Amino acid sequence: MKTAIKVIEQLEVAGFEAYMVGGAVRDYLLEKKPHDIDVATNASPEQVKSLFERTVDTGIAHGTVLVLKDGTGIEVTTYRTEGSYSDHRRPDSVEFVQSLEEDLKRRDFTINAMAMDKDMAITDPFGGAQDLAKGLIRAVGNPDERFQEDALRMLRAIRFSGQLDFQIDPSTLASIGHQAHLIKSIAIERIKSEIDKMMLHKKASRSFAYLTDTGLAEHLPSGYLFKADWAKFQVFETAAAGWAFMLFEHAQEMEAILPYRFSNEEKQTIKRALEAARLPEWNEWVFYSYTNAQLAIAALLNGRKVEIAGKKSALPIRSKAEMAVNGSDLMKWSSQKQGPWIKEWIAKIERMIVFGELANDRELIKEWFMHEYRHHQ
Ligand code: ATP
Ligand code: MG
Repeated sequence: MKTAIKVIEQLEVAGFEAYMVGGAVRDYLLEKKPHDIDVATNASPEQVKSLFERTVDTGIAHGTVLVLKDGTGIEVTTYRTEGSYSDHRRPDSVEFVQSLEEDLKRRDFTINAMAMDKDMAITDPFGGAQDLAKGLIRAVGNPDERFQEDALRMLRAIRFSGQLDFQIDPSTLASIGHQAHLIKSIAIERIKSEIDKMMLHKKASRSFAYLTDTGLAEHLPSGYLFKADWAKFQVFETAAAGWAFMLFEHAQEMEAILPYRFSNEEKQTIKRALEAARLPEWNEWVFYSYTNAQLAIAALLNGRKVEIAGKKSALPIRSKAEMAVNGSDLMKWSSQKQGPWIKEWIAKIERMIVFGELANDRELIKEWFMHEYRHHQ
């Protein structure tokens, strides 16, 4: 916040207005630490750039300049409204305006539509502070119009309810119910990102209850999955765990959520976690072949009480690379040419080492191999 105040002072010295806005003000009033601080100003992006030594054009088309100062970045955005919203998505064009109030008017919820000057004096034209005290998410202005402008706001309302442990104001909630279908106009990446966030908040159960009860879930791919006993868990450490939880509870596979476009890493984690959760027994081979992250999620799902890190470190090896022998050793010892037999024998040795049936010792493995291999000839 100190850096943001310095940025504001510098803008004011140059004759401009500048305020902290949005989430930072909300979090300040809630006595929470904001993750980023946004500044709004009547200076144009070019004027902002000329005033500060180090800036990055992160969102210049939307009037945002990132000012680098004291080792952090403060996003400075010129007061603006948004153009037309013919397709229920955020507009491509923005229009700069002169007053702070006009800028606050375009914001989604009253609690996100407050500004604060460098002395912490609040500008609050829509009763955001009162809604904060009541624990309410309320659209700025007419909720029907605001959701028609940008349908993602419906999901944001639901996400903030879980993030802040707030209720959605009745008329805002009713509006989501009526306009749920508009969510189809929103890019799946933006939808997934909101759902990911919902899973990480302490009141995930609230968000997912709203998602189902408003009917919004019905308009999302495999929306039935969101109806689950979320209260079972206080909070998930990763979004992947939340997705795996839904699939596990509904006895579904990864295929059901592919429309949400996961990264390959997330896909792998979810798939393998589900697989491990469904195994009837967790032996050494399971601890060996699944990653810590996959096992942690799986243990959460099937309620297994195991110390994963301890089990893993008790294994004789952690990967093939740690085996004391390799394929060329086997070729040398058997005087055989390369072939699929190598893979089979390495796999056999690997399993025995992991299960503690054979020590990971070159000489002992050689002895065992020479003996067994001859028998198989
Ligand atoms: P978080 O703690 O999740 O970062 P935030 O309030 O900072 O919460 P951001 O998504 O970072 O949320 O957006 C910053 C501000 O921009 C919001 O507080 C709100 O005023 C405005 N905003 C963001 N997205 C929208 C939107 N879709 N429609 C209207 N205003 C929005
Ligand atoms: Mg933010």
